[in-house]
Amino acid sequence: MRIDVVSIFPEYLAPLDLSLVGKARAAGLLDLRVHDLRGWTDDRHRTVDDTPFGGGAGMVMRPDVWGRALDDVLTPEARLLVPSPAGERFTQRTAERWAGEEHLVVACGRYEGIDARVVEHYAARGRVTEVSLGDYVLNGGEVAALVVVEAVARLLPGVVGNPESLVEESHGAAGLLEYPVYTKPPSWQGHDVPDVLLSGHHARIARWRRDEALRRTAARRPDLLTLRDPQGWDRRDLEV
Ligand code: SAM
Repeated sequence: MRIDVVSIFPEYLAPLDLSLVGKARAAGLLDLRVHDLRGWTDDRHRTVDDTPFGGGAGMVMRPDVWGRALDDVLTPEARLLVPSPAGERFTQRTAERWAGEEHLVVACGRYEGIDARVVEHYAARGRVTEVSLGDYVLNGGEVAALVVVEAVARLLPGVVGNPESLVEESHGAAGLLEYPVYTKPPSWQGHDVPDVLLSGHHARIARWRRDEALRRTAARRPDLLTLRDPQGWDRRDLEV
């Protein structure tokens, strides 16, 4: 998969050289390219913004600069992602869908955002999604780019060592929050690891984990239980 990120702060994307995403890049599983939007400016001051038509606070990113950048970076098969607090909410389901894309391009806005004609123009020519991380306002789209790249990249084949861990984890295929996890020592500060996890009895451990996942989901995110496919329930789930 190829991902291009365009930003006026390319240094913000430096963490994508680390950890699993960094390894995926080094292994050739992810072709990630970070670009400086100012490379497409044509004035001495490398201007990317201007005052808003109609007045008001702040600055707006210019469509001509973004147009030159996106014309160079987009490919016919690309999906353009434009982070925005007014966009469609990003979830694990979105990450799963986008992990199947050949090419993603993330256009990171700053200031009051990107001139609205940019989305209009590219939506008429290809696939564009305005994407929101949640109901709050960040200073720029770079954090959204980091989130989207990490959530998508870890779903690419070969990136996470044990693909099993993608099934049981929160918001995974089971549609539940993950059960609590423990490691050594078995007793710490008066808190003991549940006996069943030390029993070596695989079937009981699996049942305990499933029950805990159900309990946690019911207590913390009951909305997720109503979204679950009833086919995914078994008789003992209903006894929890
Ligand atoms: N004036 C815009 C509004 O009220 O909708 C907010 C602009 S914000 C200060 C600057 C940039 O940060 C946005 O263009 C977007 O790229 C990014 N951004 C801010 N909040 C975001 C969020 N919740 N999700 C995704 N991107 C966000």
